[in-house]
Amino acid sequence: MGKFFLTVFLLFLTFSSSSLAAPAAITNIEAIRDRGIDYLDIYTSGWSEAKGLLLERTLYIDFPGAIKSSNIIISKGKSKRIGNFYVTQKDRNTARLTVHLKKDVDYDIINVFGRNKTVIEIYDRSDTAYSDQYSWEAKNTKPKFARLKPVKLSPVLPSTIHKAGKGPLHGKTIILDPGHGGGDPGATSCNGVQEKYLTLSTARRAARLLREAGGTVYLTRNEDRRSSLSEVAAFANKTRADIFISIHYNSTKDQGIKGTETYYYNPISRRLAGTMHEALVRGLGRKDRGLRRVRFFIVKHASIPAVLLEPCYLSNGGEANLARSAEFEELVAGSILKGVELYFRNSPR
Ligand SMILES: [Zn+2]
Repeated sequence: MGKFFLTVFLLFLTFSSSSLAAPAAITNIEAIRDRGIDYLDIYTSGWSEAKGLLLERTLYIDFPGAIKSSNIIISKGKSKRIGNFYVTQKDRNTARLTVHLKKDVDYDIINVFGRNKTVIEIYDRSDTAYSDQYSWEAKNTKPKFARLKPVKLSPVLPSTIHKAGKGPLHGKTIILDPGHGGGDPGATSCNGVQEKYLTLSTARRAARLLREAGGTVYLTRNEDRRSSLSEVAAFANKTRADIFISIHYNSTKDQGIKGTETYYYNPISRRLAGTMHEALVRGLGRKDRGLRRVRFFIVKHASIPAVLLEPCYLSNGGEANLARSAEFEELVAGSILKGVELYFRNSPR
């Protein structure tokens, strides 16, 4: 080794030891069952705020700034919900707990600051939103509505945004489908806002961001009208678009239910769906209600990667108020952009 390299190496050692605090280590994980709920208690040697991501029946809990201790103690119990779980090093600065689940669940993360402890609560999923979506689809599948009039929006590339005239989404075509419209208002929020208006304004905001990034965008509607789902699906298939994103806002009878859900069906959509779900969960900071594989018409009949987004619940008071704010819509649009960019960045060319 030359003298120069040794110096650089020593400088690197000095730099890394002085500027970085010792990472927190995950030392102990205990599975506990109490009053019908499963808990995972995770102890770290320092503070790390855990972040979760539920992709179907796998729950990922990431610990930023943490490593897996070499003598980590894991005690597993018997559970109807939790299968195998283990800790890996996701990257140099992030330890990841992967939990395989035996059934569909909901979860919450409680970061106990000061005690360097994280509690993951895992319990049976409570929901009825599926059936609402199914019954809506049944009524809106057949072509008895106004003919589909999709709107093509070309990229907007002012030279100030992209010097070379090419944004990250240059050459990509994205279909945005604002749910509902016309005589079909979709859900009505507890503060009286109809879903069909929220989906359209959110889609318009997302369209603007995607075009500024160089993408070509189709809106399946740009006015208050509804076409049949079969026409929308047929359009997605005949257009040479790369991806299809349907935007909805969720609703259910139980007003306590809130959070973000993402749906897909076809295996070709799985990577897009996982990427979009993570972008929305991180971007919106709502409860993570999971990526779900469900036979919804629109994601089932599209032959290109297709997802259906439900950023939050209009039937929940707090989320209904959020949903009608421009800031929140802009957050949803920004998260859509982030997810789409990440999806294409990691796509094989
Ligand atoms: Zn809807």
